[in-house]
Amino acid sequence: MRRGLEIGLIALVTVCGFLLTGRMSRHALNSEPALTADSFQIIPVRIHLFRTSSAPAIHTSLSREDIERIMRKTNAIWHRAGIHFWQESVVEEKPYRVPFPRSVSEVPLNFLNALPQPANRTGRMFHVYFVGSMSINGLHMGNDAIYVQQGAELVKMPGGIDEPLPRVVAHELGHGLGLPHRQDRINLMSSGTTGTGLNAQEIELARKTARSLPFSLSAAEFLEHTRMLDQTAQRKAVVSRLQSLLDLPGSSPLKQRAREMLQSL
Ligand SMILES: [Zn+2]
Repeated sequence: MRRGLEIGLIALVTVCGFLLTGRMSRHALNSEPALTADSFQIIPVRIHLFRTSSAPAIHTSLSREDIERIMRKTNAIWHRAGIHFWQESVVEEKPYRVPFPRSVSEVPLNFLNALPQPANRTGRMFHVYFVGSMSINGLHMGNDAIYVQQGAELVKMPGGIDEPLPRVVAHELGHGLGLPHRQDRINLMSSGTTGTGLNAQEIELARKTARSLPFSLSAAEFLEHTRMLDQTAQRKAVVSRLQSLLDLPGSSPLKQRAREMLQSL
C-alpha cells in the first residue's frame, strides 16, 4: 500500500513540477566542495535488464556496453557529492510474473514489482531495473526497486547532460539518497529535465543518507573489504572493485594502494 501511495505522490509532484516554474538557483552548479577519493562513499548497485521476446513493453535491448556508459555518466554526476556507485553486476533476467496482457504498450506502474526475479535481489545494495516502456521515465519504489524506462525523454536544459538515461538513473538514485523533488529546472532532482545540478544542502543530505546505509562503505573500508576477499576465487569481484576505486577523481594514497593491489593480481 505504501508503494501505491508513493506512486500517487510521485505522480502528483511530477505533475506539479511541470506546472510550476521554480526559482532558478544558479549557484547550484558551483557549490560543490572539493572532494578527494578518501572522502568518497561507495554504494553497490546491481543493474537488471529484462529480456523477453513475448512482451515488448518489458524487454530492454540495452547492452552491457550501454550500461557501462550510462553508469560512468551517472557516477560523473554523483562524484560531485563524493558518492560513487560500484556496479556490482549486470543481470539479464526474464520477468518473474507478468500479471497483465503481454501485448500492452507500456508496463502498468502498479505491476512493476511483479517483474523482478526474487532470486536476483538482495538487500545489500541498490537495484536498478531497466524496462522497455512505461508511462514515466523512472520510479523509485525502494532502494531494491528502482525502475527506469529505456525510452526516457527529457526536456533539454542549458548545460544539461547529453543523454537521458544516466540522468534518470542518477535522479532515481537521488531519491534513494533521501532527496525530494525540486522546482529548479537545472537541478538533478527536478522532474523531466536534463539538469544535473546539486546544491550544498542536497550534497550534505545525500552524503549523510549514504553513510547511514548499511551497505555503503567509505573508500578506505571498501578497499579493506576488497583485501579480505579471496583473491583467487573472487578475482573478478576484486578486479571490479579495485577498478571502481581507480575511477574516483584525483590522485590519493588510497588510489595508489588500489593500483598496486590490482597490478599484483
Ligand atoms: Zn523523481
